[in-house]
Amino acid sequence: KYNEEQVKRRKLFNQVQEAKGNIRVFCRCRPLSKTELVAGCASVVDFDAAKDGELGVLSNGSTKKAFKFDRVYTPKDDQVDVFADAAPMVISVLDGYNVCIFAYGQTGTGKTFTMEGTEANRGVNYRTLEELFRISKERKDTYTYNISVSVLEVYNEQIRDLLATETSKKLEIKQASEGFHHIPGIVEANVENIQQVWNVLQEGSSARAVGSNNVNEHSSRSHCMLSIMVRAKNLITGDCTKSKLWLVDLAGSERLAKTDVQGDRLKEAQNINRSLSALGDVISALANKSSHIPYRNSKLTHLLQDSLGGDSKTLMFVQISPSDQDVSETLSSLTFATRVRGVELGPVRKQIDTNELQKLRTMLEKARQESRSKD
Ligand code: ADP
Ligand code: MG
Repeated sequence: KYNEEQVKRRKLFNQVQEAKGNIRVFCRCRPLSKTELVAGCASVVDFDAAKDGELGVLSNGSTKKAFKFDRVYTPKDDQVDVFADAAPMVISVLDGYNVCIFAYGQTGTGKTFTMEGTEANRGVNYRTLEELFRISKERKDTYTYNISVSVLEVYNEQIRDLLATETSKKLEIKQASEGFHHIPGIVEANVENIQQVWNVLQEGSSARAVGSNNVNEHSSRSHCMLSIMVRAKNLITGDCTKSKLWLVDLAGSERLAKTDVQGDRLKEAQNINRSLSALGDVISALANKSSHIPYRNSKLTHLLQDSLGGDSKTLMFVQISPSDQDVSETLSSLTFATRVRGVELGPVRKQIDTNELQKLRTMLEKARQESRSKD
C-alpha cells in the first residue's frame, strides 16, 4: 500500500517523465585503449560536468564544443552504472510499452560492449532479460508473462535470422493483423530463464560469424538486432497485452575515406549510410509530428516501426572514443545524437516550457528530501 506522500511523489515523477518525452539519449565514452596510449594519443573529452549530462570536446586543439544529453558516462562508469539508468525504460515493456534501445557510433567505440558486453562484464541485453525475469516473478500473483526472443542481422538491406537452421530462406517484413510488424518464418525462441537466454544469445553470436572471414569487420557493417516479445495476461481482469522490445547494436557510423570505397565496400557503405540516416529522418519526422514518417526507407526503420513513435519509448546510446585521432567522428556522432535528442524539444513538446519542467523538478526534489529527512 502506498501512502499519500508516495502517491504525490510518483505523480510528480510521472509528470517530469512526461514533460521530458519518450526519447532519451545517453552518451558513453570508452577509455583510451592500450594501443592509443602507446601511440601517445590524448583524450579530447572533458567530463567536468558529466554529472549534469554535459560534456565538452576539444576540436582543433583549442575550441571546445559543448553537448548535453540525458546522461553522460565517463570511461570509469561500468556496466552496472549504465544499466541502472536504462532499467526503468526496458522494464516498461512489462507494462505494455514498446521499447527500442540502440547503440550508435563509430566502430571501436563500445557499441557491442554496451549491448552485449563480455562474459565477465555483461551488457544491456543480458541484464535486460535478467531484470524481466526478476520482475515477472515478483508479479506472478497478478500476471503471467510469456517471453520470446528472436535474433537477426541486417546486412546490405537483407535480413538474416541468426537462430534459423536453414539459412537460405528469404525474409520479408509483413504487417500482422494485430498491428505488429513481423517476419513470417522467423524463429521465436521461448525463454523461461536466464540460462536459456544465454544459450540463445550465444547461438546468435556464433551464427553471425558463419560465412564471414573477418567477424569483426562483418559485424561493424551490419546491424545486430535482438527482438523480445512479451505477452502478458492479467490474472485478475483477464486482459492480454503484447509488447515488443528491440535491442540494437548498429553498424559503425564512420564515413569511409573516398579512396577506400569501391565495389562491394561501396555498396555496403551506401546501405549503412542509408539506414542510419533513415533512422535519423524517422526520429526527426516524429519530432516534427510529420504526417508522413518515412519508416519504409530502410529495413532497419521498417523493422523498428512498432517501437519508434506513438507512445513507445526510445533510448539511444551514443558511443564515442576519447582519442584525439577520432575527434571528427566523435563530433559527427554527437551532432547526430543531438538531432535525435531534439525530439523532445520539438514544436509540440515545447508547449511544456522549460520553466514548467524546472518547477516540477524542484517540487519533486523537495518532496524527496522531505521524505528522506523523515526516514
Ligand atoms: P564497437 O562495437 O562499437 O565496434 P566494441 O564494443 O567492440 O566497439 O569495443 C571496442 C573495444 O573497446 C573492445 O575491446 C571493448 O572491450 C573495449 N571497450 C569498449 N567500451 C569499453 C568500456 N566502457 N570500458 C572498457 N572497455 C571498453
Ligand atoms: Mg561491435
